Amino acid sequence: MSVDKAFREMVRNEIESQLKPLRDLVSRLEAGTADLDRLRTVAEQLAPLAGAVGPLFGVSAGSRGGAAPARRGPGRPARAASAPAAASGGKKRGRKPAAEGGARDCAIKGCGKPSRTKGYCAAHYQKLRMLEKTNRRPNNWVDYAEPNSVEDIKLPRGRAAAKALAEAKNAG
Ligand SMILES: [Zn+2]
Repeated sequence: MSVDKAFREMVRNEIESQLKPLRDLVSRLEAGTADLDRLRTVAEQLAPLAGAVGPLFGVSAGSRGGAAPARRGPGRPARAASAPAAASGGKKRGRKPAAEGGARDCAIKGCGKPSRTKGYCAAHYQKLRMLEKTNRRPNNWVDYAEPNSVEDIKLPRGRAAAKALAEAKNAG
């Protein structure tokens, strides 16, 4: 067999394994058990990859946004149900919060970016998820906090970071 073919095989396997989390989530979504925010996060992380390799799997790049319901109003909790949202196309997805009337600013003081998820901008929502995962979510970092109302926290770095993580783990 040709070197070229072997190489392509290898790349394909690699891609398959990288896309697996997305596929798992999609099948859970189809089963009605996935949580949409999770799916959106993973989809966003994988988006560049999926966009590049989508054609390999017969997936059009436009289909990935389908699971993100962009018309969620501010201050209203997401309901995890409604599978029909997945069918409503990816067109609403975009970076134009100004057009969305009720778009609010990020909950973090001085951030100023538009909120995207649970009152937080993309970056701060990531941070929130990370803090939650590492058992360090501050009490005032609530979901749907008022815009510009939550004090940002500075994370320790280096050795202090490792220590903070270990302490949080023990506390939980
Ligand atoms: Zn922010």
